[in-house]
Amino acid sequence: MGQVIQLPQLRRPTLDELVFAATVRCRCGAGMACQKGIGPQGKWSCSDVLLGNADTGDHDEYGFFSYEIKSEQDGATTRPR
Ligand SMILES: [Zn+2]
Repeated sequence: MGQVIQLPQLRRPTLDELVFAATVRCRCGAGMACQKGIGPQGKWSCSDVLLGNADTGDHDEYGFFSYEIKSEQDGATTRPR
């Protein structure tokens, strides 16, 4: 598959810095999320991984280029409450 480029991660994003998917969740049950302003090359990742609550591994990832996932809107969100 495509090349994975690891960017240095200085700190974890906070919940406020993430956009959550409206309905799509990772296989682990957490909502899918991406960082705000990530751009068209970004991807949806498991919010637990982004937030550092889970180790990377058995989680889902959906690149923007191949999946059209609606972000949270009109009260529909997978954001934890
Ligand atoms: Zn997950």
